[in-house]
Amino acid sequence: MAGTVVWLRDDLRLSDNPALSEAARSGDDVVVCYLLDEESPGIRPLGGASRWWLHHSLASLGRDLAELGVHLTLRRGAAASVIPALLEETRADTLLWNRRYGLAERNVDAGIKVWCGEHGIRANSFQANLLFEPWAVTSGSGEPYRVFTPFWRACMDRQSPRAPLEAPSSLRGGPPPVSDELEYWALLPTTPDWAQGLRNTWTPGEGSAHQRLDDFLDSRVEGYRTNRDLPATEGTSRLSPHLRFGEISPFQIWHAARERRDAAVSEDIRVFGSELGWREFCWQLLYFNPELATKNYRPEFDAFAWESSTGAELHAWQKGRTGYPLVDAGMRQMEETGWMHNRVRMVTGSFLIKNLLVDWRVGERWFWDRLVDADTASNAANWQWVAGSGADASPYFRVFNPVTQSRKFDPEGKYLLRYVPELADAENIHEPWKGRSEGYPAPVVDLKESRERALAAFQALRGT
Ligand code: FAD
Repeated sequence: MAGTVVWLRDDLRLSDNPALSEAARSGDDVVVCYLLDEESPGIRPLGGASRWWLHHSLASLGRDLAELGVHLTLRRGAAASVIPALLEETRADTLLWNRRYGLAERNVDAGIKVWCGEHGIRANSFQANLLFEPWAVTSGSGEPYRVFTPFWRACMDRQSPRAPLEAPSSLRGGPPPVSDELEYWALLPTTPDWAQGLRNTWTPGEGSAHQRLDDFLDSRVEGYRTNRDLPATEGTSRLSPHLRFGEISPFQIWHAARERRDAAVSEDIRVFGSELGWREFCWQLLYFNPELATKNYRPEFDAFAWESSTGAELHAWQKGRTGYPLVDAGMRQMEETGWMHNRVRMVTGSFLIKNLLVDWRVGERWFWDRLVDADTASNAANWQWVAGSGADASPYFRVFNPVTQSRKFDPEGKYLLRYVPELADAENIHEPWKGRSEGYPAPVVDLKESRERALAAFQALRGT
């Protein structure tokens, strides 16, 4: 009997999973495997919040597969040794996976493909996690796009993304290979267990991802265009961690949103679609700039004079104690729930980079560890966007003012109070230092002075 190994990675789902569907179609004995690879060269280890998510996502996937009569095989180690060993052990003649787009991951996959070729094993890969393959959308001159709007226009001019696939109704599970115990991977925090807020906020897994999409399209998509900017309102889909781990595919979201499209919400759906477009754009940037998380996209930024990144101000930012309520609320929201509202991500990022003059990479790494949706492409590209060092970036002179931003987007201070409760008695919630506010820190920097310092530093860069 021929055997197929499906190697799952950032695609922890049964539906719209082309590799799994192909295995089901083949009628072969199927082994479904997830490999925790923290050893292959260049692979970035997951941050703490992502490890928490991965544990629960794998547990959920394991249960879903068990209902189909297939065991989820867990292995740990470098792909170059573990995958060939599994193929030999199971005597499989086919290996299937859905594509990944980071350079280190592509190198690993290419190596495995070569090994398969040398050992008479058919290796096949599929497009599953991006609506548009990064290399498929290029400008007229064949170059990758550097600006979002023409990129997304070019995407929209192409053929509409394919329809999503149903989950296989049955899979033929052969004798299950030996598997690690998920608990032994120690992905969950224990001493201390800081994940209570994550447990209160999220339910990882494919079923919950679809529930979230349905809730969003049924009751929250109307008004998305404006509500998405209001951090106190649950105005966005909160699908980002589900997308990050591939519990739901962009094709499923895209088509479900299209089906919901009626006149009243068509503009909201269009804007929501273009946010998915930003995700595609970030991956395209990463594909063509593999060092996006560590290297300035615009090399002129290499000469920038960042302040030391180890001071008390950085610590205050990390802990949500800068004395600026919107910055502190955002940093505490992330610490508690593993997620931060997009507008507040821009404000906290801008504060770190521009008011504290800390290198954007320090912030990128902090978010990487704390976000349940930490994503190699979106995190890096957005940090570079805020810094001004990225593609299609926010101009260097745009310094988000946290006071103006909270007055505009959280005028009643509901979001601020949710995460900074000690401001309950503050006379002036947006500028607590202007009145009585007990137990809340004084501002770590003066907004005006630090803004001018940043503009001078960026101006100096332009002169170099
Ligand atoms: P929705 O508004 O419902 O949007 C739907 C989907 O579109 C999101 O789930 C996401 O996949 C995508 N999307 C929306 N905005 C963006 C964007 N600006 N860039 C890329 N994709 C986007 N997003 C991540 O997924 N992972 C990250 O690590 C990440 N880091 C960020 C760091 C900074 C400094 C900033 C400013 C933004 C970052 N973002 C990141 C983008 C954005 O904040 C989140 O995608 C969004 O807040 C997720 O919430 P949602 O699912 O409710 O979004």
